[in-house]
Amino acid sequence: MRKIETHLEQPEFLPTDRKAMEVLGWDQLDILLVSGDAYVDHPSFGTALLGRWLVHHGFRVGIVAQPVWDSVDAVSAMGRPRLFAGVTAGALDSMLAHYTAFRKKRHDDSYTPGGKAGARPNRATIVYTGLVRRAFSRLPVVIGGVEASMRRATHYDFWTDKIRRSILLDSKANLLIYGMAELALLELARRLDAADTNGAAATEQGINAALIGIPGSVFAGAPEANIPPKAQVCHLPAHEEILANSQDLMAATLLLEKQVHHGATWAVQSVGDRTVILSPPARPLTEPEMGVLYGLPFARTEHPSYRKPVPACDMIRFSITTHRGCGGGCSFCSIALHQGRHIVSRDSASIAAEVREMVRHREWKGSLSDIGGPTANMWGAVCLRKGRACVRPSCLHPDICASFHVDQRKIAGLLRRIFRHPGVRHFRVASGVRHDLALTEPEYVRALTREFTGGQLKLAPEHRSSSVLNLMRKPDFARFEEFVKLFNRSSDASGKKQFILPYLISAFPGCTDDHMRELAAWLKTRHWEPRQVQCFVPVPGTVATAMYFTGQDPKGHPIHVARTDAERLRQHGILLGHKTGRTRKT
Ligand code: SF4
Repeated sequence: MRKIETHLEQPEFLPTDRKAMEVLGWDQLDILLVSGDAYVDHPSFGTALLGRWLVHHGFRVGIVAQPVWDSVDAVSAMGRPRLFAGVTAGALDSMLAHYTAFRKKRHDDSYTPGGKAGARPNRATIVYTGLVRRAFSRLPVVIGGVEASMRRATHYDFWTDKIRRSILLDSKANLLIYGMAELALLELARRLDAADTNGAAATEQGINAALIGIPGSVFAGAPEANIPPKAQVCHLPAHEEILANSQDLMAATLLLEKQVHHGATWAVQSVGDRTVILSPPARPLTEPEMGVLYGLPFARTEHPSYRKPVPACDMIRFSITTHRGCGGGCSFCSIALHQGRHIVSRDSASIAAEVREMVRHREWKGSLSDIGGPTANMWGAVCLRKGRACVRPSCLHPDICASFHVDQRKIAGLLRRIFRHPGVRHFRVASGVRHDLALTEPEYVRALTREFTGGQLKLAPEHRSSSVLNLMRKPDFARFEEFVKLFNRSSDASGKKQFILPYLISAFPGCTDDHMRELAAWLKTRHWEPRQVQCFVPVPGTVATAMYFTGQDPKGHPIHVARTDAERLRQHGILLGHKTGRTRKT
């Protein structure tokens, strides 16, 4: 039993071995975090972010990154943690990290030292949970991160072409945390610490009681005993119903999307004789909490034990996250179900403090690689709606909701203040810009074009065809063309030769060869070579994946789906017919 220290000092790096624990004077960890990514001490890496957040709240946290999975040695090297182990596959679903859109094995992995694939297993969440179980019997294990979050209920698994039940049951973890995990993980740590202090952690009952009903979590149990009597409960179609009737996957996915957006609802799903209970989402962090979190003393570099650099770290070392969440609700994107549509922003003082720290970094050379979030121009966005719950699946589609408010002049002002900071010689906005939103404030577009575009600007029109764009929940193509005109005018006026780099998707549900030809013809008339083309991958949990699986749109109308690899390749090839070999690998 150990009393939690209210002012636990942040180490230079969180310990990854016994020796580092001894240097800190830690005889036992409170929490062990196991990750499929390398340990990069940067706020963009979830394990480092959560580890430092828990240390800030007095818990001793150690990290095991990319452990070998044929023995328990790596996982058990720091000893049994006092409270629990947290397991994540890393920043990506491990199957997506390993396989291309055509199910071919990838050779690279930008979250691994040296960028080489093979440092984590397929279905890493399940494998690592098994390892922890073997190493420390009866230790509570909680799973989280994108893989666990997007597979929290019955889902379609593209890589086996099968419906799978909640990963909570397949992994045999005690608890699953979905979405951004700071509050749920802290609540869990405090509850288990209280149980430990009271001596209750020794009993299974004490542990189980601590796991029940944490906002933003999923657990298995009897709904009558675990959901407050007057709570609003949404019943997802049972796992077996989805197996029997594919259309039920769409119903379940749309209900889950609503649960995340509405906040206060519980959800339940039967799986055989068990029930998976999804408690309401955790509340978003407040602005001060975001300031504390991103103000923690990250080393902004790989753990010193690595001999080779981690490519993802190189890309984001000097980038700044200004906000979380995205109002777009694009049907193919995991953000709506993981981070949610509610935008949580940092205040400008906390962002400025991070810039101040950054320019003092020993590797700082004057260049800031990005400032933004899931979307560059949503910092400070708020929903002004009062009263009845919102029923829209997107704040921006089919048009920008009247209640969606974002001050893009303020964003331009923030960028200028950062640019004027002593020591910052160069920076660009690399996060994707939402062009429909940008058009509502031409001054923002002008500032972006003249001052913050480093030669090319990433935009994601994704397609040209209105019917496909509608299924994606993306703005009409005319908005993109309008933006291109404004961008070109503005670039010309400032004497800069700049380009737009369009992100495009082939083989999206509802997309036919003709739709791809329409897009290819448009690109050709403008002499544009598509460089960023992704063949649609039905990742677990999204509405687009439900469309792919069911062959229907969300309203139940049949749509064409390019399902075979041959047709998917053909659609992809139509777009790349006139490329010169500079397209991103898919
Ligand atoms: S009311 Fe409008 S801005 Fe608010 S959440 Fe709904 S769609 Fe978004």
